[in-house]
Amino acid sequence: MLEIVFLGTGSGIPSKHRNPAGIWLYYEGDAMLWDCGEGTQRQLMIAKLSFMKIQRIFITHWHADHWAGLIGLLQTMNMEGRKEPLYIYGPDAERFVGDILDLNYWGPRFEIIPKTVPHEGTEFVKILEREQYQIFSIPTKHSVPSVAYCFQEKDSWNVDIKKAEKLYGLKQGPLVGRLKRNGEIIFKGKRIRLEDVAVKKRGIKVVYTGDTKTCDNLKTISKDADVLIHDATFVEEKYDRMHSGAKEAAKIAKECGVKCLVLTHFSRRYQNTKPLIDEAKKIFPNTIAAKDFMKITVKSKTNKFISFTTQ
Ligand SMILES: [Zn+2]
Repeated sequence: MLEIVFLGTGSGIPSKHRNPAGIWLYYEGDAMLWDCGEGTQRQLMIAKLSFMKIQRIFITHWHADHWAGLIGLLQTMNMEGRKEPLYIYGPDAERFVGDILDLNYWGPRFEIIPKTVPHEGTEFVKILEREQYQIFSIPTKHSVPSVAYCFQEKDSWNVDIKKAEKLYGLKQGPLVGRLKRNGEIIFKGKRIRLEDVAVKKRGIKVVYTGDTKTCDNLKTISKDADVLIHDATFVEEKYDRMHSGAKEAAKIAKECGVKCLVLTHFSRRYQNTKPLIDEAKKIFPNTIAAKDFMKITVKSKTNKFISFTTQ
């Protein structure tokens, strides 16, 4: 189960109800942030989320509304006695993380490890491999080097142990583990195939575009996503701005077979997001507008069914 909490849903300048960009993700004990705009640590506190649990921060690009919160957050982690390493991903991460650490008289007493991700080309790159999920990035089209990120849970199998016992006499134990790993086993002279006694659960996929104009790479990364969190700074794209509109986001969601589109990064001119939602829904009905502290829980139930809860 993946928990997503929106910490900041405004663009550029914060407003009374919207902090700059920041998204919390929590999956099976792993906590991460996608972007960390100014004020993110306070948003985490208000949302009652533990910033000390964060292991990785993924920055889409180095515009201050997406990273300025790192300065305070890193120092708070230090003052709270953090020991665990912190990984910070982003285009040119070595350079920018180095610059941030040079800004002050302080020295962190924990390791801060920058991880540069490619910001040119068309490749969908795996940047993190964990037992149950992977994180990918792809370059996007903004006024500075920028990327989109993807959380991809791995497919898994739920063995129906009652069925396995009834059909084959197979009980819970190491053989079940071997069956999951190998796809089949020979037990008491009989071949048991995984699909005979188990249900496949398709892994969930969540994508965050960061700031970007429409581009082909967005179609690559958004393909079949369960949740697409998309830049919707305006109602529709403006030729002289390197951002998307709600309209373009909806077109991508429709073309890519997305299940749920979440618009975010609203210009402060939209105190009410209705015009953006109305525009997007004409093209892609399952669209919602993110708001600060909105929580989405995404869970894979079977091969086809993914459940969403929005609070
Ligand atoms: Zn921005």
